Amino acid sequence: MAINTDEARSGDAAAQAIALRRPETAPLATDITSVPFARPAIGDAEIAAVLKVMQSGWLTTGANAKLFEEKFCELVGGDAEVMAVNSATAGLHLAAEACGIGPGDQVLIPTLTFTATAAVIHYLGADVVLVDVDEDTLTIDLDHAEQLVTPQCKAIMPVHFGGLACNMPAILAFAERHGLKVIDDAAHALPATWDGRIIGSWDTAATVYSFYANKPITTGEGGMLVTRDPEIADRARKMRLHGLDKGAFDRFRNTSRSWEYDVVAAGYKYNMTDLAAAIGVQQLERAEELRRSRELAAEIYLDLLADLPLKLPARAPAGDLHSWHIFPVRLTEEAPLTRDELIATLNEAGIGTSVHYRPLHRMSYWAKAYKNHNSVFPVADRHFEGVVTLPLFSYMTEAEVRRVVDVIKAAVK
Ligand SMILES: *Cc1c(COP(=O)(O)O)cnc(C)c1O
Repeated sequence: MAINTDEARSGDAAAQAIALRRPETAPLATDITSVPFARPAIGDAEIAAVLKVMQSGWLTTGANAKLFEEKFCELVGGDAEVMAVNSATAGLHLAAEACGIGPGDQVLIPTLTFTATAAVIHYLGADVVLVDVDEDTLTIDLDHAEQLVTPQCKAIMPVHFGGLACNMPAILAFAERHGLKVIDDAAHALPATWDGRIIGSWDTAATVYSFYANKPITTGEGGMLVTRDPEIADRARKMRLHGLDKGAFDRFRNTSRSWEYDVVAAGYKYNMTDLAAAIGVQQLERAEELRRSRELAAEIYLDLLADLPLKLPARAPAGDLHSWHIFPVRLTEEAPLTRDELIATLNEAGIGTSVHYRPLHRMSYWAKAYKNHNSVFPVADRHFEGVVTLPLFSYMTEAEVRRVVDVIKAAVK
C-alpha cells in the first residue's frame, strides 16, 4: 500500500466510492437502533485467507507471517527490519529489552496511555517516569519531560494518541539531547504521518503497532515491531522465539536439521501465527481505505459537533494523515452535564462509548509504582474528568454518526 498524502486527501469520487461501499457487517442506514463502539472491518477476503491457512496444514508462523512482514516493510519505506508478534505489548517488551533497559533505568512515558506502554518497563525491572500531555494534541508534553528527565533515563516512549502523530523532529531532538532511545507506541497510528513521513519510517530505536480487535487494522490479536538498528533487530528476533539462535521461519520449516538449534537466552513466546498474519495481509492491503473511511466519519463529527460545549480532537497538520483510531471529546466547563451523565445517556440510546484514558497516575497499581511522585498532571486530569470516546470505526456510516450527534445535541442543550 502506497501512502500518498495528496491522493489520500483529494478526489471526491474516491471518497464517495468508500462512503457508498457498504461492508458486509454494517447495518443498513435506515435501521439504526444502536451504534457499537467499534466494529472490525472483516470481509470475504479475510475469511477466505484464514480458510486457506486452515486447509494448508501450516497454522503457526510461516509463509504468511513472512509475507505480512514484507508488505509491512514496504509500507514503512522498505529499509527496516520488521517483526510480526502476537501483540503490541509483546513488541514493546521486545523493543525495550533489546534496548538494554533494566533495573536502575528510567523511562519517560505519557500518563495518558494504555497500561501496556508502561507495564513492559516494569517487566524489565526498570522504573516509569510519568509525563503530562499537551493540551491540544494529547501527546507527551516535552516541556514537562524536560523537567523530569534524569541521568537514569534511558528511553522515551511517545504515544501517537488517537492516531495523531507526535511531532517527531521534536521528539528525536529531545532524545538526542538527553541520550535517550525512542520507542514509539504506534498502536493507534496505522497509518499516520508527520511532515509527510509515515510513522515507522522515522529514525527511532523501534516503532510498535497493534492489531488488536479494535485497532486501525486487526489480526484479532497481533502487533508489529519495526527497527532500523541491526542489534535491536537481532536481539528481538531471538527473544521473540524462546531465545533460539534460529529465526522462526527456519525453526518451523520441515527440514531434516530443524531439530538442530541452540538456546542463547531465556526468550519469550511472541511469534505471530499464520492464521493471524493471513488476516493482516488482507487488512494491510486496504489500510488506507479503512483510514479514509474513518476520516470521513471524523470530519462529519467535527463539523456537526463544532458549536457545542465540547473540546474536539485536533486534526493532523495540513497535508498529514491522521489515522483516526478513536474520537475522544471532552465536555467543557459550560456543559450542563457531567461526563458520567453523558455516557449514561449515550448508552441508554444504544450507543457504545469508552474513555481514553483514565491516566496511569490514577490507576491503583501505577499510583503506587511510578517514580516521580511529586509531579502533577493537570492536562491529563482535566481531560480524563470530561472525556467520552465516541464510536468511530472503519466504514461507519453517516447515518450512524448523525445518530450519535443527535443524542449528544439533545443531552447538552
Ligand atoms: C492497544 C494498545 C496497546 C497494546 O496493544 P496489544 O496489541 O493489545 O498488546 C499498547 N499501547 C496503546 C496505546 C494501545 O492502545
